[in-house]
Amino acid sequence: MAPPNASAGACDAALFHRTAVKAAAVTKSACSSNPSRGLAAAAAVGAGAPAVPAAPQLLFTASAAPGHFMPGHVEQPARVGVILQKLKNAGITGGAFAGQLHEVPAGPLASMEAVRQVHSYADQLARTAAAAPEGHPTAVADIGDPDGVTYVTSTSFEDALRAAGSACALVDAVVAASRRAEAGGTSGSAGAAAAGAGEGKQAGAGSPTTVLGGLSNAADDRQAGQGAGTIRGQHGACGSTAAVSLCRPPGHHATADTPLGYCLFNNVALAARHAQRVHGLEKVMILDFDLHHGNGTADIFADDPSVLFIDTHEASSIYPPPFAGGSVDDIGEGAGRGATINIPMPRFAGERCMLHVFDSVIGPAAERFRPNLILVSAGFDAHYRDPFQGLQLRSSTYYKLAQRLQALAARLCGGRLAFLLEGGYHTEAVGESVCEVFLALLGRPSVEGQAALQLPRPEPVAEVEALVEQLRRVHSL
Ligand SMILES: [Zn+2]
Repeated sequence: MAPPNASAGACDAALFHRTAVKAAAVTKSACSSNPSRGLAAAAAVGAGAPAVPAAPQLLFTASAAPGHFMPGHVEQPARVGVILQKLKNAGITGGAFAGQLHEVPAGPLASMEAVRQVHSYADQLARTAAAAPEGHPTAVADIGDPDGVTYVTSTSFEDALRAAGSACALVDAVVAASRRAEAGGTSGSAGAAAAGAGEGKQAGAGSPTTVLGGLSNAADDRQAGQGAGTIRGQHGACGSTAAVSLCRPPGHHATADTPLGYCLFNNVALAARHAQRVHGLEKVMILDFDLHHGNGTADIFADDPSVLFIDTHEASSIYPPPFAGGSVDDIGEGAGRGATINIPMPRFAGERCMLHVFDSVIGPAAERFRPNLILVSAGFDAHYRDPFQGLQLRSSTYYKLAQRLQALAARLCGGRLAFLLEGGYHTEAVGESVCEVFLALLGRPSVEGQAALQLPRPEPVAEVEALVEQLRRVHSL
């Protein structure tokens, strides 16, 4: 494993801290409403007063799972700790963003019933974790990955249930907020957050949430309004409520039949199934922008036309057989053919390439699919400072991706959007990237912005242009 680019990281970090404090002091949102009015606006709507445009709302939850730990392993609890410290240092706190940013407790635990519907090994994993000696991780998947085995400790099973349950609870919360927006003209309230957290107590339990269920595409179409077109630069996210889960262990490598790649349960797959089963959201789009191919998610939804799975990854960052997948021609199976879009990026592709792919392939595919919910497998190991050194995204690239996804969600599915943490192993870079995602979802300016930055290597622009043309042909975009 190559060491991170320490000098570039220090430079970025200094820039980040300087400008983050400044950005947090900004009081006028991109939606031209004072965020401190979020609660007042919601209350006013409830009292029958004229609707006031609300600032975007953001819920987040975090669980570092300190007991799920192997000394020297790249996927470690400190990842979450550094993210939370970065948010605090940058002034991205509930206090600074009162009425707009809400932390909700992690959990509840996903039910075994819900996990069994996605994974065949849930009970076996429970037994293995229960038998793991205190403080001694037990490997549950070792395919010779030089970067570390997939393991359990005595707390791992509960930690994995909590990560999955948290993802489901955040789905509950954004659905509750969108329903409230449909009913009252705004979703911008801490009340919506509280309602969502309350719904989360049932996460994964499989009990229908009748108050929130029954969302239809017809309702979404009415809310989306204007149909297809450019998504760049829109402010359609005013009043929307998004969510971010900062929980570990991650999930996107876990297949239907085995844990893999540091992942015990596939959080994003469980959240998608939860949305469909509990809330009646028929069509879910999952975007996975982790450096590595989300083989587990691809496996679970390969033949399912109700889940559009789009995966950007560095072309060689795929698992060997039998887990192989991730090529352009890998488009799903059976009834699900065409609902898997793999975008294998050439090594060292950066922001220019990623945004071209988003605007040319991901956005149009989403517009065509018209999801009821957008979930994001948010890995940050495609950052140019990540030790894997496969791609060259910047921290602010994640801002731009989040902004585009938020605009898509506002247009297509009532703002229902949730990000779930996957990989990312340069902890400083991950922390700064998560801050950028938060700022985008809060409607605030990017901290890193357009600051000049010389990437370590030139981007393979011509290769990505050819890739985009190939993808357009394969998927008729
Ligand atoms: Zn990864």
